[in-house]
Amino acid sequence: MLEFYKKQHLYPKVQFIVIAKNGEVTASDDNLFPLEPGSDIAEFHPFFESVIPLLADKNTQLSYYCIHIKDKICDVDCKTFEGKDPLIVIHDLTEHYESLQLVTQMRNETVIESEILSLQNTYLQEKEAFKRTFIANFSHELRNPLTGIFSFTEMLEKTHLSDEQYDLVEVVKSLCQDLNIMIEDILDLSKIEVGKFFTKDEVFDFDEMLDTVNFIYSTKARQKNLNFQIHRDEKIPQYIEGDQSRIKQLLANTIENAIKFTDEGQVDLYLKLNNKRANKVNIQFEITDTGIGIAKKDLNDIFTSFTQVHKDNKYPGSGLGLAIVKNLVTLMEGNISAESELGKGTSIRFNLKLKFPLHHREKQKKKTQESDILFNNPDKYSILLIEDNKISQIIVLKILASQGAFFLDIAENGAQAMERVEENDYDLILMDLRLPDISGYELAPLIRDLPEKKYAKTPIVALSGSMMGDGKNDYKKAGINDILQKPFQELQLLKQLKKFFK
Ligand code: ADP
Repeated sequence: MLEFYKKQHLYPKVQFIVIAKNGEVTASDDNLFPLEPGSDIAEFHPFFESVIPLLADKNTQLSYYCIHIKDKICDVDCKTFEGKDPLIVIHDLTEHYESLQLVTQMRNETVIESEILSLQNTYLQEKEAFKRTFIANFSHELRNPLTGIFSFTEMLEKTHLSDEQYDLVEVVKSLCQDLNIMIEDILDLSKIEVGKFFTKDEVFDFDEMLDTVNFIYSTKARQKNLNFQIHRDEKIPQYIEGDQSRIKQLLANTIENAIKFTDEGQVDLYLKLNNKRANKVNIQFEITDTGIGIAKKDLNDIFTSFTQVHKDNKYPGSGLGLAIVKNLVTLMEGNISAESELGKGTSIRFNLKLKFPLHHREKQKKKTQESDILFNNPDKYSILLIEDNKISQIIVLKILASQGAFFLDIAENGAQAMERVEENDYDLILMDLRLPDISGYELAPLIRDLPEKKYAKTPIVALSGSMMGDGKNDYKKAGINDILQKPFQELQLLKQLKKFFK
């Protein structure tokens, strides 16, 4: 029985052949190949033709590897003896060589594949680097002509234009401004990506920064009937060391989004001290809203450049804001995350590692500007700005924010303005003369004639774009107290206000 099994599993792998010196087969066990005694071994396979002459020497042993004989791959040993015929031993190593070949082939393929991958990687990296440098250079080049267009438009604005021409110039200026913001954003991003973006370390008054943020965004939120509130952790030091303008940029991008994507309810900024060690602080900023929210599947994409998950024209944008936020936060060694529920609202949370001065003496401001000291009233003056042009809105907003002495509401047209004046008591009204639905000369008398003559004496200052505005000399008849010519400087506006708030 055992022999039967052995026969099935042990099959011969070696053949012994004895040959004469001329190559004639004298004996063979035919284990691998049948060989007729008396036949010429060179005829059996041409390999042996070259071996036969070497068999003349006595007592030699020659070994040959990986010889293809018929359908097998073999090693061949040839031995000569003194006074005896030479012996040829053929070892069938087909399986061994074939598996070796497979392994070698696989190894070669892996090596080739990894070389291809590394080549592709280098190619992609070079392409990416080229793209970044190209974008950085190109955006930089775009700035010059754009600055040119902007300054010439400003010059044109100061010439004698009709009201219609003035409005067209304002549109060009506004488009330039949009383009400029986009170019600055792209430049910031590419600078961060190529490692050429540096943040500044300067000591600044955190509370003063929050006051400005509060003024700007509560004004913007009120325009949409939203409520904006800052919740400050008292443990955060008043003076912080870091890049104030970049922190403001982080807050601007996230809070602007929160206001943009919220139609009803509340936008909040929560500030929490995560930890404070030596002269280091870790502050958490969380911006929450009660807006339209973001679907779970889109949440990871919001930090990618040029990605907008709400493709509705109602929400304009470039999809760069949050990409910049993420890059800046990473640069300032922080983390960022987002949580959201569709229809319920969104929360963007990031933390920053900042420093704070252990002993801070308030630095004397280098040069006190005239505009710095104009207003120091303890009770804030409440002002209504009636203006549809976004640039003018921002200009007034920034000038008033710098004083910390005002409360500002913005109405974009006559109808909104009437609603606001009926509901509130303003100390002064700033009004553009050309509004989308009515002219300032018509709107002012409507305000003056409100029931109980509520606004009979409230100062109304008109903002006029065109030098040639119709009826410019009749403004007093319409109940307007004074006219401020656009474009105006910070000090011009503040002095104008000061005239009425003595
Ligand atoms: P955009 O210029 O479009 O605002 P961002 O990079 O700031 O670009 O934001 C990317 C996208 O993420 C937005 O287009 C919007 O779809 C979504 N998003 C950002 N913030 C909010 C938010 N507070 N609520 C809802 N969606 C948001």
